[in-house]
Amino acid sequence: MIKYLDLLRINEQHAGEIEQAMSRVLHSGQYLLGEENRLFEDNYSRYIGTSHTVGVANGLDALRLILRAYIELGVMQEGDEVIVPANTYIASILPITVNRLVPVLVEPNMENYQIDDSRIEEAITQKTKAIMIVHLYGFCAYTEKIGELCRKYNLKLIEDNAQAHGCLWHGRKTGSLGDAAGHSFYPSKNLGALGDAGAVTTNDRQLAEVVRTMANYGSSEKYIFKYQGINSRLDELQAAILNVKLKYLDSENEKRRETARYYIDNIKNKDIILPHVRDWGAYVSHIFPTLSTQRDNLQSYLADNGVETQIHYPVPPHKQECYREWSNQPFPFTEQIHNEELSLPISPIMDLGEAEKVVELLNKFGS
Ligand SMILES: *Cc1c(COP(=O)(O)O)cnc(C)c1O
Repeated sequence: MIKYLDLLRINEQHAGEIEQAMSRVLHSGQYLLGEENRLFEDNYSRYIGTSHTVGVANGLDALRLILRAYIELGVMQEGDEVIVPANTYIASILPITVNRLVPVLVEPNMENYQIDDSRIEEAITQKTKAIMIVHLYGFCAYTEKIGELCRKYNLKLIEDNAQAHGCLWHGRKTGSLGDAAGHSFYPSKNLGALGDAGAVTTNDRQLAEVVRTMANYGSSEKYIFKYQGINSRLDELQAAILNVKLKYLDSENEKRRETARYYIDNIKNKDIILPHVRDWGAYVSHIFPTLSTQRDNLQSYLADNGVETQIHYPVPPHKQECYREWSNQPFPFTEQIHNEELSLPISPIMDLGEAEKVVELLNKFGS
């Protein structure tokens, strides 16, 4: 059986160091907002290349806090619009609507399924205040053109970097390309904790301060509350684990890329569409998406032959019950992706033999 993602084996590679880190936290007596959190924030800022990191409880909160901070700073207000890719995971959209901002969905390109930068300008209105790009599947979504549009229309650029830790755009890390970025360290992400965790990165000191305050009940001084905040902290245990795992992120991403390269070079079935990878630095292979009009048959055929796959994602945001008011908006590319997408196994611990087996099965499919 080839698992889609074997989290146990991934984490067991670092068992000794993770156990030491957990024991250090246990015996420190400090379980929140302590040394491990500070250390992780420094390490992660250095890694991403921003002057600030604020550890928070999860990736959804990271994005929610960025938008909330912009509202508190007067950069945007309720009813303003945020452009976001239509085919993203729901956790990019929820932070927009929870802040009573309005998501404006834009279709993806069909090369690597990132927001189609040629369709953004027509979606900009007087109310647009930000573009949220999502580095979906671990591909860099940023383009020169997106940067130009942000400058031309004075828009904030927010990155959802939940799936792309370590991804590069011309030598710069995603998460440092815009005004602020939200990161998730959910266990299955490329940099995964052993529970929930997240962070905001930014070069904007004022924004970082408001996010930090807002995440701590709205307080930066004990028992003094400036905002009606929330409780969203990165706990010491997860920070300590992330300090261990961050050291291995680049080499683990490289292992993921090896499998992705092998898939691209060796899958020859014309009925299975592979993503275009123009620049391997700009793809950290979080998910390896394929498209097939036979997706459901292909998935059961692989399962019958001992290969586990996943679908990212079966139902797009505009077809979800929670956003039923959008259900009649046409997003044909997004719907095609959701109808045809199948994600092949990929992980830092997959070996060549496993990738060979997957490829062999795919090349035999339908013949
Ligand atoms: C995982 C994910 C999130 C949310 O992260 P959580 O830590 O689970 O809250 C946001 N956006 C994208 C694209 C994700 O994949």
